[in-house]
Amino acid sequence: MISPKTAAAAERGIRIVGQGLCGSLLALALEERGVPFLVEDTPLPGEASAVAPGIVNPLAGRRLKPPENIKDLLASLHRTRERLHQIFASDFWHASPILRLFFDDPQIERYREMLAGPGSQFVEERFPENHFPYLNDHFGSFLTREGGWMDLPELKSAVRQWLCQTGRLAETVADPRTAEPDGRLRVFCEGWRFAENPLWNWLPHNPARGEMLIIEFGTELPRDHIFNQTCWAQPLPDGKWRIGATYAWDDFTGAPSVRAAEDLQERLRLLTPVPFTVKDQVAGVRPILEDYKPVLGFHPDNPVEGVLNAMGSKGVLQTPSAVEAFAAHLFDGKELPPAWAIDRFA
Ligand SMILES: Cc1cc2nc3c(=O)[nH]c(=O)nc-3n(C[C@H](O)[C@H](O)[C@H](O)COP(=O)(O)OP(=O)(O)OC[C@H]3O[C@@H](n4cnc5c(N)ncnc54)[C@H](O)[C@@H]3O)c2cc1C
Repeated sequence: MISPKTAAAAERGIRIVGQGLCGSLLALALEERGVPFLVEDTPLPGEASAVAPGIVNPLAGRRLKPPENIKDLLASLHRTRERLHQIFASDFWHASPILRLFFDDPQIERYREMLAGPGSQFVEERFPENHFPYLNDHFGSFLTREGGWMDLPELKSAVRQWLCQTGRLAETVADPRTAEPDGRLRVFCEGWRFAENPLWNWLPHNPARGEMLIIEFGTELPRDHIFNQTCWAQPLPDGKWRIGATYAWDDFTGAPSVRAAEDLQERLRLLTPVPFTVKDQVAGVRPILEDYKPVLGFHPDNPVEGVLNAMGSKGVLQTPSAVEAFAAHLFDGKELPPAWAIDRFA
């Protein structure tokens, strides 16, 4: 149930804090509903959407199992793509099958188990050992369907330009200690920084920094796939490849590290024998809570402060659905999905 204070504040309009993927899609949802809003954002170190690869892999993870709600997540993603296309004449989406290389026999066993369940609908084809001369596919590989990636930096910059042109962007740093001056509802979409926000620092935070390399191959690999083994290799529109990503639970705002660069190069050599040259290294922080699920809702003691965050490593798959659920809760009185509602921490 929405509290009367939340509803009254929303009627006065909404201030969105943060314009990463969450803030951007929330702004589009509010526009669609005709709700007045303002976005407050300043690029801060560690922001995720400005650097993240935005890969959607229905069979991501060690166990190769799709999320239980995968159908709903993909349906929301595709609705969001249509909406983006209406406004920007681009949906920022690159459909791309993901070629996953097995790296040992236990993983092949997990693959066989997965085939007996709903994951099988995402398997396109299996290839034998040493099928691709440009890969170290000594245990074979399989192709995942319905994968691809959303160009998050492009999306972020297009939405930013749209907000500027329509006078709805304030390039400032929001102070959570100061209440919204016009009595509007405030929704925090601050990425990992909500771990430091006194309104939300009591949640069980577990942000993870990730580093990536931008490289060029000496001999070009086919550019119509994402390759994945102990790292992924993603073809970029400018001819380069993005390689990622590491996980670390410290030094969230530090410079890219030599250790991460070496680790990624070692993993890339496991994936392919093709020589490469490193061109750049970038880092960002994944906003994550301990149960690895998004968090949506309103502060238990202050119902005019909202939160929409913690999309983890599955920002592109989860954010469209989370934004739809948040808006349906706020404006249509629908219950939030219990697994994502902030009440689970009450
Ligand atoms: C290395 C890495 C790899 C990833 N890989 C993938 C992937 O392959 N597929 C996938 O789907 N997801 C991936 N993700 C996750 C995905 O990028 C995130 O889930 C998503 O981008 C988070 O978006 P956000 O809007 O919550 O946060 P962010 O993108 O971090 O945006 C938050 C914004 O708020 C601003 N801000 C914060 N506090 C304030 C304040 N007080 N006032 C004003 N502005 C503020 C920040 O500067 C920033 O602009 C990856 C992330 C990383 C870091």
